[in-house]
Amino acid sequence: MTISTSNLVTAPTLPDSNCPLCPRLADFRAQARLREPGWFNSPVDSFGDPNARLLIVGLAPGLQGANRTGRPFTGDYAGDLLYATLLEYGFASGVYRARPDDGLKLVDCRISNAVRCVPPQNKPLPAEINTCRQFLRATITTMPTVRAIVLLGRIAHESTLKALGIRLAAAPFAHGAVHMSGQIKLYDSYHCSRYNTNTGVLTTDMFRKVFANVRKDLG
Ligand code: SF4
Repeated sequence: MTISTSNLVTAPTLPDSNCPLCPRLADFRAQARLREPGWFNSPVDSFGDPNARLLIVGLAPGLQGANRTGRPFTGDYAGDLLYATLLEYGFASGVYRARPDDGLKLVDCRISNAVRCVPPQNKPLPAEINTCRQFLRATITTMPTVRAIVLLGRIAHESTLKALGIRLAAAPFAHGAVHMSGQIKLYDSYHCSRYNTNTGVLTTDMFRKVFANVRKDLG
């Protein structure tokens, strides 16, 4: 199936900071605000230029990562591996210091998540993934020049396919798999979580190869 971003309905890309659409996540957010008032504790916006050609879609903010700092993949292990890889392949410049004020810039790249609010145990429910897809869809829609989307993990893969109107059976998830959606090439990768790297599901080399492919394709 070929779907271009121009076929998709436009909606806000960023929910209200008190978005109530997922009651369980709104409760979790409220508890985090009481416990850690200095943390971000709100839906996390995408990072990077909407005119980028590369979009990376993760799962959801990590409790002590993006939920704490307010920038996707910033402050936890997954960010260490992701930003090191983006710097290596020229999709970021500067120095990553795990803080939103570290001055790191994305280059022709944007980072978003399938779910904008931190879920308990990093596990959003299917209904929450479905509800938050409107913001992921809007993110893709507002990227007129996107040509490559890296999908970190099965949930990001499936939610992005649904956002693009692609049948899941037509594009099964597998690390290293590549699928097409009109002019957009979709690259599957296991999520760069500490769990996946500690258990050997994802090695640094496996992750680097995904971005090497993207770099080769985008030039
Ligand atoms: S996960 Fe998305 S839809 Fe659900 S409450 Fe957060 S911002 Fe709203």
